[in-house]
Amino acid sequence: MDDDAQIISERLGPVARILQNRPERRNAQGTRMLEELEAALDAAVADPAVRVIVLGGVGDHFSAGHDLKEGEAERSGVTAEQRYVRESRLYYDLSLKIWDAPKPTIAQVQGACIAGAFMTANMCDLVVASEDAFFADPVVNTLGAAAVEVLVHPTVMGLRKAKDLLYTGRRMDAAEALACGMVSRVVPRAALEAETLALAERIAATPPFALRLVKKSLNRTLDMAGFRAGLEAHFDTHQLSHLTTEFAEVVERGPGDAIARGRSAAG
Ligand code: ZN
Repeated sequence: MDDDAQIISERLGPVARILQNRPERRNAQGTRMLEELEAALDAAVADPAVRVIVLGGVGDHFSAGHDLKEGEAERSGVTAEQRYVRESRLYYDLSLKIWDAPKPTIAQVQGACIAGAFMTANMCDLVVASEDAFFADPVVNTLGAAAVEVLVHPTVMGLRKAKDLLYTGRRMDAAEALACGMVSRVVPRAALEAETLALAERIAATPPFALRLVKKSLNRTLDMAGFRAGLEAHFDTHQLSHLTTEFAEVVERGPGDAIARGRSAAG
């Protein structure tokens, strides 16, 4: 295995466990990590021995979200066209690829699950969180952006709570996430891996094609209610928010300012 791989992909019997592996950067999701994540997901889907896919993070945090420092270093002066193409591929299409994966997916979440990572985790079918997990999408406050690229929030937590979180930028702890139904179960931090794996193994014993079909039907009920059309519309709105004066002022101040604003919005 590549020693400095940003994604670790393991096979635990019928379970593929895919782990974001940049713990020194709170698993910040840069281009390379997301490309490795996509490759690991493709491999798990293609492997007939894999019945369930777990998506997690190495270290104290699931992930703090997109790598804002890489964003500033590599993409200052990016055109609207270039951003649209990049965010379509790495953020929107990859997110929907997780959502549409023909095998059950479980997010295993500890510590921070913020912004881009909030989007990634919520693309999974189930979410197991440790008691120390916290969730936020603060980018309205911190970046002047209209939420992250995939507006899954009202679907997974309800409209009113989505407005509460997005308007304030505040954090939601694991207990609140469980109460609103965004998280499937909450376990002690020390038990997170074992409990997630036990759930995955239990699901792995279910007839896989029946699972694939019921997942398709469940997701289609949302599509028939306009879910995917809503996500596509929001993606374009999000792109508009990258072109506003408000967003330009944040870019001018640099990523340190956005990170500091994220901390102050967290309370
Ligand atoms: Zn964006």
